[in-house]
Amino acid sequence: MSKNLELAKIFYRWADILDLKGDNPFHIRAYRQAAKVLEDLKEDIEDVIKNNKKLPGIGASLRKKIIEYLETGKIKDFEKLKEEFPPSLFELFEIPGLGPKTIKLLYERLNIKSIDDLEQAIKEGKLLRLPSFGLKKVEKIKKGLEIYKISRDKIPLGFALQIANFIIGSLKRNLKDVITNISYAGSTRRMKETVGDIDILVTVKNKKFVDKVNEEFKNLEIVKEVLWEGPTRTSILTKDGVQVDLRIIEKKSWGAALQYFTGSKAHNIALRKICLEKGYKLNEYGLYKDDKVVASENEEEIYLTLGLYPPPPELRENLGELTEAKKIFEKYIQPILNKEKLSLLDAYKLLKESIKSDENLRKKISFENLVTLKDIKGDLHVHSKYSDGANTLEEILKAALDFGYEYIGIADHSKSLKVANGLSEEEVKKRNYEIDKINEKIGKKVLLKVMEVDILPDGSLDYDEDILKDLDIVIAAIHSRFNQDNTERLLRAIENKYVNIIAHPSGRIINQRPSYDVDWDKVFKAASENNVALEINAYFNRLDLNDTLAYKAYKEYNCKFAINTDSHFIDQFWMVILGVGQARRAWLPKESIITTYNLPELLKWAQLKR
Ligand SMILES: [Zn+2]
Ligand SMILES: [Zn+2]
Repeated sequence: MSKNLELAKIFYRWADILDLKGDNPFHIRAYRQAAKVLEDLKEDIEDVIKNNKKLPGIGASLRKKIIEYLETGKIKDFEKLKEEFPPSLFELFEIPGLGPKTIKLLYERLNIKSIDDLEQAIKEGKLLRLPSFGLKKVEKIKKGLEIYKISRDKIPLGFALQIANFIIGSLKRNLKDVITNISYAGSTRRMKETVGDIDILVTVKNKKFVDKVNEEFKNLEIVKEVLWEGPTRTSILTKDGVQVDLRIIEKKSWGAALQYFTGSKAHNIALRKICLEKGYKLNEYGLYKDDKVVASENEEEIYLTLGLYPPPPELRENLGELTEAKKIFEKYIQPILNKEKLSLLDAYKLLKESIKSDENLRKKISFENLVTLKDIKGDLHVHSKYSDGANTLEEILKAALDFGYEYIGIADHSKSLKVANGLSEEEVKKRNYEIDKINEKIGKKVLLKVMEVDILPDGSLDYDEDILKDLDIVIAAIHSRFNQDNTERLLRAIENKYVNIIAHPSGRIINQRPSYDVDWDKVFKAASENNVALEINAYFNRLDLNDTLAYKAYKEYNCKFAINTDSHFIDQFWMVILGVGQARRAWLPKESIITTYNLPELLKWAQLKR
């Protein structure tokens, strides 16, 4: 963890303690604000202090504490303050929806000092004895506890990918002549929304290099602690507390290991059952028939040998992918084999080659027709400096073109969302004017006039027709008053003739906030009938719609989707891969995703409703 984050953590905790003590709210807010500033700070705090730079929102007394920490590694006042409460009490602050006031009450009245205490007290019905505690409130705490328990050991996919890519990049760079294959496996490769441990598999040119690889891995700058060391597996804990296992695989077992460690468990169990029926044995070293290896080095070959078309990693959850794999094999691989004398792998490669140049063929093969990153033509939900984004329109334009996009939707917040600097009608017009000017200057339409318009509590939109009609795309979203009938609210927005997309439809935040209660059947049906796309918000802690809901929306209601990043900085565009991953996990074909349309198609689609 960087010093910035260490300090942010301390100030957040400090504010929690002051909250428990019932300190002055202004005082508490100063600590939380300082924490936020440190968290968002792009420069190293050490450099900021060294160069005597200002820290907005951090006063002299807090600055002194920061300096004390940088010089001594701790802050005396904080250490003293911490001792007033049992350390386990602070676990309670990690539970979504449990605020300092409630924690204080639980601690003082019921002597609840830890998560275990809290669970016990709930079981015994003790919470209901507290003033202002009803069944509903206890239910809410229970739900929060559930999320906490699921999330405790899980990190969002976006983090896992960054860590995995950093490790793979470093090892590849530093051990160019040593490594032959390297890949992450496990739930990271399946693009699951959260990940426990990260698995990385590697093969080396020569056995004598094994120590060299382990040594390099252990000494990466992100390593905090080595948990396990062996010739074939080394486990480390990163400074952010994530466990990473590096496995050194023999070259001849690469495919089998990749298959085995990618999982999921359910997929592998089902696959082994197929093996058994066909008289094969499968483990992490290879696929065997009568104790002889028949496939091991190539992952695809293992599936093909079993009469299965290789399922994309994202689908390997035993949710029908093996049945589909068999169908595709029989329909498309078997005929090639019948006609030509080719190996399984060559027949597969031949088919893959044909798919590349034959869009109709691709459409027929569900695994191949899942949306891919290459299909994405733009992002319709990016915030600019006009609301709460960090970049100007020109900066966004340049970044979008560099990213290879055909269009980019500037989607700022609407007027009611004051905390995110929502735009007044005048400001929208001014912004739109600037967008037009920029497009004119470059001689083509790349920046799109979009707004992320708040859906008000009664389901109406935050702007009137005279603003909405000038936008290329209208995104509607719920940002406040979550605890009400959001089904009706969403339905009204969907029926509004200007709305094209519903942003982050479920409102959940990974590891923090559950989705609100919505009658999804009603919402999906209405979206489908009204030609409104559901967003797959690719922001790392949203991924909303999630894979399960998106699967339902497509399969049962034939809905359309928009994969958008909700970027607030241009360097967040990369998160589109997270959205594509969720869409693939939901079995979504390319044509169900409106952000794969080219610009004329997209604009035509958006106008259909009006
Ligand atoms: Zn939003
Ligand atoms: Zn947004």
